[in-house]
Parts: sequence; C-alpha cells; structure tokens
Amino acid sequence: MIKLTNINMEFNGKQILHDINLEVAKGETMVIIGPSGSGKSTILRLIIGLLKPTIGNIMIKEQEISCLSEDQLNKVRLDMGMVFQYSALFDSMTVGENVAFGLREHTAMSEKEISKIVSRNLRMVGLTDQQDRMPNELSGGMKKRVSLARAIAMKPEIMLYDEPTAGLDPIMSGTIDRLIMNTKRMLGVTSVVVTHHMSSAFTVADRIAMIHNGSIIEVGTVEEIKQSENPLVQQFIHGLKTPGAYVRRRSNLV
Ligand code: ADP
Ligand code: MG
Repeated sequence: MIKLTNINMEFNGKQILHDINLEVAKGETMVIIGPSGSGKSTILRLIIGLLKPTIGNIMIKEQEISCLSEDQLNKVRLDMGMVFQYSALFDSMTVGENVAFGLREHTAMSEKEISKIVSRNLRMVGLTDQQDRMPNELSGGMKKRVSLARAIAMKPEIMLYDEPTAGLDPIMSGTIDRLIMNTKRMLGVTSVVVTHHMSSAFTVADRIAMIHNGSIIEVGTVEEIKQSENPLVQQFIHGLKTPGAYVRRRSNLV
C-alpha cells in the first residue's frame, strides 16, 4: 500500500533522511518510533506528498507520487486521512463544520447525508452532540478526537497519525490508542503512526520501525523490537540515558 524506496531527504543541503526503505502492507499498522528530530514527521509529510524526496521513490497504491502535479497529488490525498500533532482544526468553524469540511469540499453528498456522517463519526470518538462547540472550548484530547473524526469522514484507505497521544494524560492516550485500533478494524485502513510513547507503540502496532538520526535502524513486530539486540533500540524503548546502560544491565542479569 505504501512503499518508500531509497529515500534521501535534504533541507538546505543538510541530509535529514538517509536511504529510507519501508513498506506498509494493506491493513497493516506501522508505528515509527525514534527520538525527537530523527525525521519521523518528515516521513509522514513525504507520504502525504507535502514534501518531495531529494532522491528516491514513494509508491502509494502502486502509484509513484514523487513526480505528480499538485492536482494529481490532491486526488491521491483524498484516500489519506491525517491526524496532525497539533490537531490542526479550523478554529473559526464549529466541531461539526470541521468534520463535514472534506465532505462538503469533495463530495456531492446532501446536507442530510453529511449531517448523518458527522453525528456518527462524533459518536464513534465519544463526542456525541458536541457538533456546535468551537475548537477553543475543547481539551487537547477532545481536539485530537475531532481531528480523527474529520480524517475518517472521507473513508480514507490510509491513515497517518503524527504523535496522536503527545501531551495527553494516560487515560486519554489509551482512548486514542483504542480509536486507532477501531479505525483499523472498522475501515480496514493501512496506518502509519508516529509516536514516542512506547506503551502506545506496543498497543497499536503490527510492526514497528525505529528511526535514529534519519536512518531506519530496525523494523520488526512488537516482540522482535522488544528483543532487539540493538543497544539504541533498547535504550529508546526502556527510556535509558545511554545505550551502554542497557548492555550493562543485561550483563548483570546473565
Ligand atoms: P521528528 O518528527 O522525528 O521530531 P522531523 O522530521 O520533524 O523530526 O525533523 C527532522 C529534522 O529535519 C530536524 O532536524 C528538523 O529540524 C529538520 N527539518 C524538518 N523540516 C524541515 C524544514 N522544512 N526545513 C529545514 N529543516 C527541517
Ligand atoms: Mg515530529
């Protein structure tokens, strides 16, 4: 469904991504983990076509997108929903208008049909009867859920999530994790989730890719990542200060 081949990305002559290869199968949830500044959001922006790679190919559903025009890209994007790190709701629109936005812009649905979808999606994310509120009246977790309700309104085949649980308390993070899994189950979507919450990663992932300084250093199932011999992976998933800390701890155990 998504295939990145030999992606290199430079900003102002500085190389940010090094030879990234990553495939996400239809219906799979790929979680990208890694330290802040390692290039995770850049990968999402490449997938949605907001950035073009310096070198490399990006296939979305068998179509190479790095050479498409803005018009052609917009068509591809209709199949993708994105939940941004900072929700990115339209502040001047009500919750309901936010969720309805894509349907009004891109479909010929009647207002009655749209209103049905809006209520259904808001109910799905636990925000029944909230359509008349304004984004600035909502908590961070509620905004994220509106953003999710908006992203799935167009029934995308691909969902991209950038740090969907950042800044949320553990209970709300758990709610968002469940919504990500429900969305996968109900819509059969292919998902890429960027997070640095390990509990989230282990909960929602089919596979995890760990990125470090712009390179993918490990890809595997949750079990494979937990048992990785790579000290950088162990350092990251256990929140240790240095890679050596894990090696020392392990050797104490043997
Ligand atoms: P992450 O999401 O893992 O925290 P990002 O993908 O946002 O990391 O950024 C990776 C690196 O690329 C950072 O060093 C960041 O400063 C740089 N970067 C990201 N976007 C741009 C841009 N548009 N112009 C210049 N540098 C950028
Ligand atoms: Mg980021």
